[in-house]
Amino acid sequence: MLIVLHPDVTKPQQDLIEDRIRELGFTPHAISGAGRTAIGITGNKGAVDPGHFRLLDGVADCIPVTAPYKLVSREVKREDTIVDVAGVLVGGPAIVVMAGPCAVENEAQILASAHGVAKYGASFLRGGAFKPRTSPYDFQGLKQKGLELLAKGRAETGLKVVTEVKDTETLAAVAESADLLQIGARNMQNFSLLEAVGDLRKPVLLKRGMSSTIKELLMAAEYIVSRGNKQVILCERGIRTFETMTRNTLDLNAIPMLKSLSHLPVVVDPSHGIGIRSGVLPMARAAVAAGADGLIIEVHPDPDRALSDGMQSLNIPMFAELMREVEKIAHAVGRTMHKMPEHQRSR
Ligand code: PEP
Ligand code: MN
Repeated sequence: MLIVLHPDVTKPQQDLIEDRIRELGFTPHAISGAGRTAIGITGNKGAVDPGHFRLLDGVADCIPVTAPYKLVSREVKREDTIVDVAGVLVGGPAIVVMAGPCAVENEAQILASAHGVAKYGASFLRGGAFKPRTSPYDFQGLKQKGLELLAKGRAETGLKVVTEVKDTETLAAVAESADLLQIGARNMQNFSLLEAVGDLRKPVLLKRGMSSTIKELLMAAEYIVSRGNKQVILCERGIRTFETMTRNTLDLNAIPMLKSLSHLPVVVDPSHGIGIRSGVLPMARAAVAAGADGLIIEVHPDPDRALSDGMQSLNIPMFAELMREVEKIAHAVGRTMHKMPEHQRSR
């Protein structure tokens, strides 16, 4: 149920409405949009009787919410959510690009990546410090040292930092250092982790599980938002299909579906989506054409020597070309490219 408030509702009236919701054993979630303020209700098992609220002062309307992912649904909030990540707006008119290596490997590698991607217009530096790898024998990341190197990359370039949070044990360390917390595909349904990031007030990039449906992705986002953290960005990164020629199948369908079902921004990861370097640029173009709000791209100064995901990583000149091409598509679909303010840009 969504309770739409009168435009001139007073604070005491809103407090009374929220108290009434709590008295019934439910949880109120204030949702402010451009044109209206509303209160979403969660915690109810069946339909909520609108009669409880209709006559309260300040209530304009009571609308049933049919989607099981309530707070992230368009039914509850019609306007696009814009997630403010340390001053960079994700979900607005400008396309935001996050780029960097799969994993932070050493100082020279991360700084070369940071300067390279900043020069060609990225707004975020990506790079895993805590890496969830399929094999226990593969490089597991530099962990705390990796976070420190990302912070150095940020200090030198002004880029924001997005990095994966692998588990609840290391969440505090990652949250202290990163601007945007990435929940990886393997953790999309790690409910303890979703709840823990839901209790923070820090933006989250939630990647779709490799065998998860669009609905499951939205339910995972609901875990985070229902705990009060509204700053969630959804990420399509490819799913497993019968196709073996590519690493995954980038589900471009997910972009218009997520944009219509949810108000949250959608970022696309064509690198993991196709898994082949030469396919990243065309799929990045396709993602922006289909309505993505941003891209996350794996870039390495020397991809053939990368410790993880070298096959799908672009070198810096390839990233520069991708940015030029994506900008053309962005303009064709009425978007702009986000640019970091001049004083923050890499020299
Ligand atoms: C990554 O971004 O490097 C990564 C591990 O992605 P995913 O969780 O989508 O596999
Ligand atoms: Mn990777």
